[in-house]
Amino acid sequence: MKFSEVIGNETVAKALASMADSGRVAHAMLLYENEGCGALALALAYVQYLNCANRSGGDSCGECPSCRQMAKLIHPDVHFVFPVNKGPKTSDDKPTSESYVKYWRELALADPYFTEADLQKAIGIESKTGLIAVAEAKSIITKLSLSSVYDGYKAVIFYLPEKMNQETANRLLKMVEEPPVNTLFLFITHAPEKVLQTIFSRCQSIRVMPLTKEEKLQVEALKPQVDDHDRNTFMDIFGDLMRAVVARDLMTALECGEAMAALESREKQKAFCNFAGSCIRSIFMLQQNMAQIADIADEDLTFFQEMAQKCPKGFCVKAMANIEKVAMMVDRNVNSKILFTDLVDRMFMNI
Ligand SMILES: [Zn+2]
Repeated sequence: MKFSEVIGNETVAKALASMADSGRVAHAMLLYENEGCGALALALAYVQYLNCANRSGGDSCGECPSCRQMAKLIHPDVHFVFPVNKGPKTSDDKPTSESYVKYWRELALADPYFTEADLQKAIGIESKTGLIAVAEAKSIITKLSLSSVYDGYKAVIFYLPEKMNQETANRLLKMVEEPPVNTLFLFITHAPEKVLQTIFSRCQSIRVMPLTKEEKLQVEALKPQVDDHDRNTFMDIFGDLMRAVVARDLMTALECGEAMAALESREKQKAFCNFAGSCIRSIFMLQQNMAQIADIADEDLTFFQEMAQKCPKGFCVKAMANIEKVAMMVDRNVNSKILFTDLVDRMFMNI
């Protein structure tokens, strides 16, 4: 992401660029914001600028190898830390950010202004508290001890340090105080008063300002949206599929598979998978008695409640994994008829 692509906070962007230009790069910085105001976007633009081979006019070029890797969030010297917990999207017993980094990337690429709730949903832990545990500190220390792949800066973009416990902070402290050469920590917090003092006091703090109404609208426009027409189509297909699956009516379920494969583009098929995944999550939430965070429209509530009753325990977790796999394969140009028929088969076997 280039500075010019960041919505709002031009003053902060300029200050960051001039820090990089002057070579006065703080090795620990804390950006604090009201949630969703672009601190992550600024951090990404800053690291991209620092490592850009052809900076000009106070911005990165967007085209050099480093910028291209940053644009996909796959730069080998840039690491992400965020609060996690155990959940259906990883089999790791002590998950770290690495266990979920693929979902983090997808989310941050689609919408770098996401909220903590968006993140929890994306990594499938919306019913739990995200934490930054000591396993994370060990993982960062290991990563930063390795030499960098490129000549530029190594960076850790550390989202919500307030979710870190004392033990994790103690482990990290020395690294934050005296990081290896050309290494920086960029902390992003929504609650600076909750960041452990030992960490806070070692950071240069920067206030990311609230967005104006116009800027908020621009951010809103970036959010991935399913329009009403698609939503209705998706809900019809998903509703028919689930009713057929719980009624053990394979023929009708397979017809639903055909309807998915017949959606007019790969983007639509992928959007359907995301939609179906979030519906299954809602069913799962109802089964866990967490209706308040299940995010269900009033008119759909009866359907979801019925499904929550009829689907056996364990079905949702397997179905979510299957749907995600299909969403990935859709991207890889696999024949959609085969893909969706296989998905229906698997859902049928798991019910
Ligand atoms: Zn560049």
